Formats: sequence, C-alpha cells, structure tokens
Amino acid sequence: MDMASRLFKLLDEEIQNPKVALQSATPLQLLVATILSAQCTDVRVNQVTTGLFARYRTAEDYANADPAVLEKEIRSTGFYKAKARNLIRCGQVLVSRFEGQVPRTMDELITLPGVGRKTANVILGNCFGVPAVVVDTHVKRVAQRLGLADTDDPEKIEVALQRVLPKASWTRGSHQLLLHGRHVCRARAPQCQACRLYALCPWEGKHPV
Ligand code: SF4
Repeated sequence: MDMASRLFKLLDEEIQNPKVALQSATPLQLLVATILSAQCTDVRVNQVTTGLFARYRTAEDYANADPAVLEKEIRSTGFYKAKARNLIRCGQVLVSRFEGQVPRTMDELITLPGVGRKTANVILGNCFGVPAVVVDTHVKRVAQRLGLADTDDPEKIEVALQRVLPKASWTRGSHQLLLHGRHVCRARAPQCQACRLYALCPWEGKHPV
C-alpha cells in the first residue's frame, strides 16, 4: 500500500462519517451558507441561516432582497456588505440564467458571483454526488504537512489530491483532511500527540511525542 493510501486508511478510522457542518436542506441553502462561511465559523453561519432560510426560500427571494435588510440579517458573519451583494447578484443570475435552480457543473457554478472552485466543489460533492475535491485553508495545510502536495496553489493541490485519491473518494477524502485540520492538525497548535497519522507524517515541524 502506498503512503497516501495508508494515510487515508487511517483517516477513515478517525473520521468515519465526514459531514459538512453547515446546515442546509437544498442546494440553494448550501450555496448561501457556503458564501456566508468565508472568514466565519460554521457555528455562526448556522445561527444566521436558521432565520435566513425561513425568510428567503427561493433564488427570487435573494434576487429581490433589500440590500440594507439583508446586510443587517447577515451582519454577524462578517464582510456582510460584500456577502449581501453577492447573494443578491447570485439570486439574480440563478433566476436569469438557470431558471432559479443551482447549476450542476463546475463551469456553470463558477459563473455565479462569489462562487469559486472551493464553493463549487462543496456544492458538487455534497448536493449532486459529483466527486469533488474541496481545498480550503485546512485541506491546504494538512496536504502540505503530509507531503500530499508541495504547492500553495489551491487548484494544484486539488489536482494533486485527485491523483492520490480514487475518484469515488474525492469528496470524502478531502473532507476528512478538512476535519483533521480543523480538529487535530491545527494551524498553530497541531495536536501531534493525539494524531493517528503521527508515524507516517513527514512534516519536520511536527511536535515530538
Ligand atoms: S503528526 Fe502533527 S503535523 Fe503531522 S498530521 Fe498529525 S497533527 Fe498534523
């Protein structure tokens, strides 16, 4: 078994059921939650979307939102002016180009305001069952520390992880790296003493155990 397979086998033991922490029941809700999650915790986003999703049910609702009202509703997620602008424009594009539905391809998703490859991959992998490698700050850090990628470019990290994971495991594997980074291999204080991957981890900065 190669190194990457051994690492993901251990991650399978550590994180058996990787789930997106953002609460949503539809592709539109996950899209909105993911846009709101930039520079914000999932817990805070979930607090905000509980009320938001009751008031905004369709793409039309976002398209026709009053910017000042929406800004106030999402204020606590930070960068609320830009996020409100993106949500409204996103709703307008969904209505004008996609009949109010969230599209199902990367090429279409990244035409939406405020949606980059990371958000598009979250939607593809979690809503539409399309294998998708999500690269956020945690995935980037853990992939680098584990020697799975040696670049800072998220798109190149995405390709590197696509190479070492079976396609059917792209969504699951990248989400396991995300959760491992969030809870164990933290940016400033990695919990190396509690890490299942310790023996295989090649990072020279890992804490001695
Ligand atoms: S041993 Fe430490 S640095 Fe390596 S993956 Fe585990 S937590 Fe991260």
